[in-house]
Amino acid sequence: MIITDVINLIRPNIINLKPYSSARHEFSGNANVFLDANENPYGSPLTQSFNRYPDPLQLDIKKKLSEIKNVPIDRIFVGHGSDETIDIIIRMFCVPNQDEIIILPPTYGMYEVAANIHDIKVQKVVLTDDFQPDLSAIKKNISPHTKIIFFCSPNNPTGNLIEPFAIQDILENFHGIVVIDEAYIDYAPSSSSWLNNLSRYPNLIILQTLSKAWGLAGLRLGMAFAHPSIIEIMNKVKMPYNINSLTQQKVLEALNNIQFLNDSIEKNNQEKEKLYQALKKFSFISKIYPTDANFILVQFDNPNEIYLHLLNYKIVVRNRSQVEKCEGCLRITIGTSEENQLLLNALSSFKSSSL
Ligand SMILES: *Cc1c(COP(=O)(O)O)cnc(C)c1O
Repeated sequence: MIITDVINLIRPNIINLKPYSSARHEFSGNANVFLDANENPYGSPLTQSFNRYPDPLQLDIKKKLSEIKNVPIDRIFVGHGSDETIDIIIRMFCVPNQDEIIILPPTYGMYEVAANIHDIKVQKVVLTDDFQPDLSAIKKNISPHTKIIFFCSPNNPTGNLIEPFAIQDILENFHGIVVIDEAYIDYAPSSSSWLNNLSRYPNLIILQTLSKAWGLAGLRLGMAFAHPSIIEIMNKVKMPYNINSLTQQKVLEALNNIQFLNDSIEKNNQEKEKLYQALKKFSFISKIYPTDANFILVQFDNPNEIYLHLLNYKIVVRNRSQVEKCEGCLRITIGTSEENQLLLNALSSFKSSSL
């Protein structure tokens, strides 16, 4: 696709939208006296002041992200978690009660919820048994109203990367938007990120987040990487001040500590290997799926019993046993060495009630 065709996919009311123009948008230069935004000039009832509105376009954060990700600033959008970003993408391309998206379950739940909220039809094309896209089924489900196809790689809750050739096939043959959610990409080999190919595909939007490997879920910061014309429209649709001052400040501080990220990834990979080997020894575990993320999908003979047993030990995992293609599975986040040991101890103490 070429970018003019991509722009034609955007809803006409969004293309024609005149965005809200905030005070900090109309004047972003240097001044000594700010009397333009009705802020309280006496500061805040705190030791640190938050009386001023934050930068609506988060330029300092984008500069830093641009260095880290090696992507130009005009290809970066910053949102209130990936969840805001998913919502904006659906709202800018899909006309309610008319357009459709395709998702590939089992996958992250927010694509469907965001679509449902906006009355967008969701076509589901279930992944194959090895959790890869079924290309011919996807193509059969593409209609003239299909605007977006969502991939998640590494996929949640299965943990695997999606085959690049499958994504490439859709990117090159589908006349719509391809979203690749890379929430867990920091845990995967760096060559597996689609960021390396961003400039080749104007219909590609890549989502990443600081919520996982960066350890900043509580600050709520997600990123989208796309063609500058798409980013420009996303900025028009977002809330004027979508990232608050405290988050902007703390994120900037955190992004200077890339060592923390690298250490976390290394520890996760060590613990993943240990946990994988240890889980193999349980007779009631029928399958441990390989993972490129910070969680493992594990199939049990008796998932609900195990789930409750772990709860008795005050250990919570995610019960995915009723999800199609994940029958019998619990999704277990890889914890610290101590946490994983507690999990293994609890599993060792399990005596099936049917024995
Ligand atoms: C955890 C997760 C996210 C993160 O969402 P945030 O809103 O950025 O915290 C996004 N996508 C997937 C697939 C996830 O598992």
